[in-house]
Amino acid sequence: MFNPELETLPQNQLRKLQNERLQRIVRYVYERVPFYREALDRAGVRPEEIKGVEDLPKLPFTRKQDLRDHYPFGLFAVPREQVARIHASSGTTGKPTVVGYTRRDLEVFAEVNARSIAAAGGRPGMLLHNAYGYGLFTGGLGLHYGGEKLGMTVVPVSGGMTERQITLILDFKPDVISCTPSYAQTLADEFRKRGVSPEEISLKYAILGAEPWTEAIRESVEAGLGVKAVNIYGLSEIIGPGVSQECLEGQAGSHIWEDHFYPEVVDPDTGEPLPEGKEGVLVFTTLTKEAMPLLRYWTGDITYLTREPCVCGRTHVRMGPIRGRTDDMLIIRGVNVYPTQVEEVLRLIEELEPHYQLVITREGTLDEVELKVEVTEAVFRRVGAEVLSDEVVEADHYLNQLRAKVQHKIKDTIGVTMRVTLMAPGTVPRSEGGKLRRVVDRRKL
Ligand SMILES: [Zn+2]
Repeated sequence: MFNPELETLPQNQLRKLQNERLQRIVRYVYERVPFYREALDRAGVRPEEIKGVEDLPKLPFTRKQDLRDHYPFGLFAVPREQVARIHASSGTTGKPTVVGYTRRDLEVFAEVNARSIAAAGGRPGMLLHNAYGYGLFTGGLGLHYGGEKLGMTVVPVSGGMTERQITLILDFKPDVISCTPSYAQTLADEFRKRGVSPEEISLKYAILGAEPWTEAIRESVEAGLGVKAVNIYGLSEIIGPGVSQECLEGQAGSHIWEDHFYPEVVDPDTGEPLPEGKEGVLVFTTLTKEAMPLLRYWTGDITYLTREPCVCGRTHVRMGPIRGRTDDMLIIRGVNVYPTQVEEVLRLIEELEPHYQLVITREGTLDEVELKVEVTEAVFRRVGAEVLSDEVVEADHYLNQLRAKVQHKIKDTIGVTMRVTLMAPGTVPRSEGGKLRRVVDRRKL
């Protein structure tokens, strides 16, 4: 562990520390940030009323729109001159979301990343191949300073230019790689194409984050790169990567560094706090940030919390994998469905490629779902058909069985019956940027 004293602090002492820090930060934002003064006044809450984390539900939520409304520096609690660094996340529409860090915030940022890398298997003296993007995005610099603080040799490769990444991994022989899970898969595919076996790749540990991923992806990255892969979670509004980290020993949920970031899980519709283990929206209060502290920030990410003891000995609460964002959730015949659940099932079926699309329609009052999924080249060659029309599939016993298998697995796991359409490789529609449009919801038309 990077900071054993804090990482294993007994939960009652952790709670005491959180309560002290919360009291301080609420007074701090009330005095310094007009947005919070107004929000608390409107909610009829005096800062002195907030004595501990049990009082958090009295406070209003902070939402992404509040950051946009105060673009660029309106939520800063210190004069801009005291801000040592600015990051921003690109919005899909309009202006980016801007965040600031004082020098002390940057030390905390490096500390939580050092803890995270150590929890993932990193040790002083090891070489870190950091393939997160450098720039306004927090990923690259977050892991970078964390690795340096831990005492590693950091290679700031940044994202993209796969050719060069492959060369550097083969020549520099890094022990640890940090990147998105999808990029780790790209690298694994590239090594396979070149006939480099996982045993020949020096990497031992992979720290993957910045997009939701599944156990199936973990298996494919671990096998493809010959590593142990764990999750890192974060968002720029709270600090960037290093808000929470899955430990190598447990590989079962990510420890939230809750001496700095206090988590709650609340009901997506009512905002009411949910008990441990229940899935809902993850909300964070920053306990130590100076430049831009946030109270009860609504992340939109869906997960649950657990305080079950962890094999690694860390006492910090764990969050489950991100099921998706509230925006991604589909309600099909009254069942909540996330595209990641479908992906998880499909990846366990070896005759399929991970390219799929869900087309949802409504016949009368009933939702109908068509799952279009690509078969592998091997399956396609075996069938020898130009088009996998329903007639071809039905006429072919093997394909018909495959379709039934997919349907059963989906029904068993997710609880929704979907009509399965097998597609030829490369025929599921892809949108610009190579990303798939996973869901076409025609109910809204
Ligand atoms: Zn653990």
